[in-house]
Amino acid sequence: MTDRPFIIAGAGIAGLTLALTLARQNRAVMLIEKRSRIDELGAGLQISPNASRILIGLGLGPALSRVAGKPDELIVRNGKNGTTLTRMAQGQSMRQAYGAPYWHIHRADLQTALLDAVRSEPGIQLSFGRAIAGLQQTATGIRIETETANGTRTTLEGAALIGADGLWTRTAALLGDASEPRFTGYTAWRATIPMDQAPDLFRANATGLWLGPKSHLVHYPLRGGRVLNIVAIVSDRNAEPGWSRPGDKQSCEARFNHWAQPVRDLLSTVPEWHIWSLYDRPPRPNAARGRATLIGDAFHPVLPFLAQGAAMAIEDTAILAAALSSHDTIETAFKSYVANRAQRTGRVQREARFNGQIYHMSAPLSWARNLKLRNSSPTSLAQRYDWIYGFTA
Ligand SMILES: Cc1cc2nc3c(=O)[nH]c(=O)nc-3n(C[C@H](O)[C@H](O)[C@H](O)COP(=O)(O)OP(=O)(O)OC[C@H]3O[C@@H](n4cnc5c(N)ncnc54)[C@H](O)[C@@H]3O)c2cc1C
Repeated sequence: MTDRPFIIAGAGIAGLTLALTLARQNRAVMLIEKRSRIDELGAGLQISPNASRILIGLGLGPALSRVAGKPDELIVRNGKNGTTLTRMAQGQSMRQAYGAPYWHIHRADLQTALLDAVRSEPGIQLSFGRAIAGLQQTATGIRIETETANGTRTTLEGAALIGADGLWTRTAALLGDASEPRFTGYTAWRATIPMDQAPDLFRANATGLWLGPKSHLVHYPLRGGRVLNIVAIVSDRNAEPGWSRPGDKQSCEARFNHWAQPVRDLLSTVPEWHIWSLYDRPPRPNAARGRATLIGDAFHPVLPFLAQGAAMAIEDTAILAAALSSHDTIETAFKSYVANRAQRTGRVQREARFNGQIYHMSAPLSWARNLKLRNSSPTSLAQRYDWIYGFTA
């Protein structure tokens, strides 16, 4: 189509994966990132087969399987009394069903593997400390303005712009949609602890999910079982936009002081928490305008109740690259990509919200939920997610 670079704004999981994908199609890429370097807090990510198969297709299989864990199963428990409500196989059976693994991975390990691969591609120019600040569409391409932290502005020209700049995207505003995400009334508390400090119940090679009124807890091992990742989601009145902030240990524990003893024991071992206010927004109907579009959270953030936000971002990159290969112009490729993604990502967003309501039910609705879970077979639970995990982008 053109030799001028595809400019990608944002080097998160979406931007890094897209840069790599476009470079593999022999396209020139310029990846600009607002932060001066990528330093990820210790937190885990679940990468389901619909996304792991794409990363493997990019050649990242060996690097990622060295650092990713493969949980044997999902165990769902009642947060109040600790009884097991249901189980779903994740390890070998998911690989057999979907032809790709379910991974638990440290976000920093995924970013590092992606960044190493990006750096080894001569067709990708990587520029840190530059934020996208302006956009002009020309007859044959795009012209963008970037801004550094000290206010220095630079103009760059490219074939197209893809905004991978996350939930608080500036690119969407430059495309004419300045609508803001809204606070959901929930905050996520995240921590990692050395596995040898975790109570025995939490050391299994499994994804643990504990359900309670207006809150739930997820945990799983990372880094070859040396680290335990913990995510506690609770209702909250106070919101703070942005990536994360430190959380107060006592106030987290107070939120769970009526929970089963093993959960209280676990939380007492956590020295420090990081908090994320959870924001949501509907998909953006006009995510493609001329030679500019959006991917990942900038396009369609997904609440963490389905562990699919990063997975959807990774799927976007494959669909966008396929659209570019099969259309004559960038404009039509972007329009077709947005139309293609709207339905699936909209459904995943809705399903994640719905999961949140189910997870956080209070009595008496939670009694019905628990009864249903206790009576569900492991296969019926797995089948519920077939349409997500079995998807091939
Ligand atoms: C508690 C929690 C748990 C989660 N767990 C999972 C999970 O298990 N599995 C899963 O699939 N997903 C999960 N997610 C969702 C996942 O983290 C996100 O969907 C994913 O990180 C989105 O990636 P992204 O690249 O689109 O955006 P981001 O990761 O937000 O990256 C955006 C990048 O753009 C940069 N940027 C911002 N503004 C500009 C600008 N103006 N110019 C240039 N660069 C800019 C930012 O610095 C950043 O590097 C979870 C989310 C939360 C909050």
